Amino acid sequence: MTSIAPRQQKNSRELVQEYINHHRVVIFSNSTCPDCVKVKNLFIQLAVEFTVIELNQMENGAALQNALEEISNQRTLPNVFINKTHLGGCDATERAHQENRLAAMLRAGEEEVTAGHPELESYDYDLVVIGGGVGGLAASKEAANLGAKVALLDFVKPSERGTTWGLGGTCVNVGCIPKKLMHQATILGHSLEDARQFGWNIGDSPVRHDWDTMRDGIQDHIAVMNRAQKDDLRSKKVTYKNSYAEFMGPHKVKCTDKYGRMQELTARYFILAPGGRPRYPDIPGAREFGITSDDLFSLPHSPGKTLVVGASYVAIESAGVLAGLGLDVTVMVRSILLRGFDQQMAEMIGDHMTKHNIKFIRPCVPTKVEKTDSGDSGLLHVTATMQDDGTEVVGEYNTVMFAVGREPCTKGLRLDTVGVKVNTQNGYIIASDEEQTTCPYVYAVGDILDGKPQLKPVAIQAGQLLAMRLFGNSKLKMDYTSVGVAVFAPLEYGTVGLSEEDAIKTYGDSNIEVYHTYFDPLEWTVPHRDENTCYAKLVCLASQKLRVVGLHVLSPNAGEITQGFALGMKLGATKADFDNLVGIHPTCAEIFTGLTKTKSSGVEVAASAC
Ligand code: FAD
Ligand code: NDP
Repeated sequence: MTSIAPRQQKNSRELVQEYINHHRVVIFSNSTCPDCVKVKNLFIQLAVEFTVIELNQMENGAALQNALEEISNQRTLPNVFINKTHLGGCDATERAHQENRLAAMLRAGEEEVTAGHPELESYDYDLVVIGGGVGGLAASKEAANLGAKVALLDFVKPSERGTTWGLGGTCVNVGCIPKKLMHQATILGHSLEDARQFGWNIGDSPVRHDWDTMRDGIQDHIAVMNRAQKDDLRSKKVTYKNSYAEFMGPHKVKCTDKYGRMQELTARYFILAPGGRPRYPDIPGAREFGITSDDLFSLPHSPGKTLVVGASYVAIESAGVLAGLGLDVTVMVRSILLRGFDQQMAEMIGDHMTKHNIKFIRPCVPTKVEKTDSGDSGLLHVTATMQDDGTEVVGEYNTVMFAVGREPCTKGLRLDTVGVKVNTQNGYIIASDEEQTTCPYVYAVGDILDGKPQLKPVAIQAGQLLAMRLFGNSKLKMDYTSVGVAVFAPLEYGTVGLSEEDAIKTYGDSNIEVYHTYFDPLEWTVPHRDENTCYAKLVCLASQKLRVVGLHVLSPNAGEITQGFALGMKLGATKADFDNLVGIHPTCAEIFTGLTKTKSSGVEVAASAC
């Protein structure tokens, strides 16, 4: 927003005309008028820059208002002009926004530039988004809100097991949502164990879990979300096509629906948000007999005795969920747990899982999967090799789940047609810090971006900000740093910032001070749940007044705890800021307001009773 100082030399009419002629969006306003505030807030929300002339604060304000009335035939304020065209007051501006005319007026200035270049004006859409996951949905809805004509193309190729799903992408259908709901099922199971000691009479026979009931409840919720996404697109006037997209040439894609019907679309801009899909290891029987996270959450029957291959997010969370439901679970780990995370915390997660009956085989990789018997009930026979001494290990399971990473959905897009480059090592799309690919009119957001965190809120925020830059005159870029994350491994791990080892690597050992402690959540004391298991650690930078550069917590609700502290870290919080914060009692989060023991002191950090 620009505010204009009073200028006296010209007559009032000339002055008003000058404001209108020289500013893209100009609001004549009275700083105390609620409608004027409303209009200004609307433009701020749309990230559109504007010039405001507060007539009540100007010596010649009354004269200017008279001149304004002569020019616009409107006496009241606010009085809004866009690209030299009179729009009107608050109601007129809000109506123009609701009817998508506001964005068209804002673009009028740009269209003057393209006048005489019909090829630039004849696209079917302002924006075509490829991929209907959270990133693509966020970008398309934001662009439509800003008045752009948008089409969204989403198509799910069935998994090797034939699993497919509706609109919403990985998070909604086969990622965060079903995973967190299953995590909740395991929390309830643990709570039932505790319940007796809190006086609940739930009988003596063991409480049994029913897979089908849980799966149906979760899948019903997903179906509601699928429908809500479609309705939302419709209400925002985004054209949705359940079709697979591939580039045909400059500014042009072909989309093909499940019946093989094809259509070509052109657009001024494209946003690629096709995400990724689980990878299979290249061993006999993997694709034929294994499942992935794409299949797990809608399995027609309980997976039974399960081998999970892999040791990162998906593997650890899935193993935790299945064991929490009472199943016999083994995790086959190639090297370390949770690569990229703080390794002290990763090993603590591993220890906790081991105590809760999850078996680990490490370091080990499978070499083949065979079926011992035909038919659905046949067991899967897995052969594997220990990585340290080459010993062969064998085992039999009802289900083998591969969680060995994901691959980007870039192969079928024919990106070479428009010059979009990918990282040749891994296939992910290379883009600038404004998400622009190597083709100037093609952008990318979400899991498909090379080297960026693969997380739902990251995809959403990047998508929204990109749409606001493309259609709303915003300059705000996505900040991919200090993104908090939680691993829901039945005991949650929340973290934001650097791991202890990365902090040491970045700033040097002598520059890092670590404050830490074990603690026992109050709610665990009565049922005597695992003592000295929950743990909190702050990694601080000595040379910057102990600025906190890494926060780690292993605790119930660690995700919720981390979300709040992530804000403090983004604002540069120091250890003193954490100490000055008054805790909320009795919570797990309050542990961060009173950490006194450093790792370097070697002082005992076992949980205390108070
Ligand atoms: P996606 O959601 O993958 O959507 C891409 C869409 O594009 C898909 O529908 C795809 O079928 C479609 N598509 C692909 N190619 C084409 C084409 N050529 N034409 C048309 N359509 C196409 N993140 C978190 O923040 N928290 C969590 O707890 C969490 N848990 C997870 C658990 C699991 C098991 C997994 C696998 C992921 C989890 N994630 C989590 C990560 C999160 O799901 C992703 O970061 C997020 O879904 C990425 O969104 P996206 O829009 O980039 O892509
Ligand atoms: P990752 O790429 O993070 O991890 C792959 C795992 O598989 C590693 O442990 C790797 O071992 C192992 N591996 C790879 N190849 C083989 C092989 N041939 N044999 C045996 N093991 C192998 O993938 P994920 O699928 O776990 O996660 C993908 C992304 O999804 C994450 O980056 C995350 O952003 C997102 N996600 C987020 C969640 C959350 O926020 N809670 C939850 C789940 C996913 P090694 O270390 O030896 O390479």
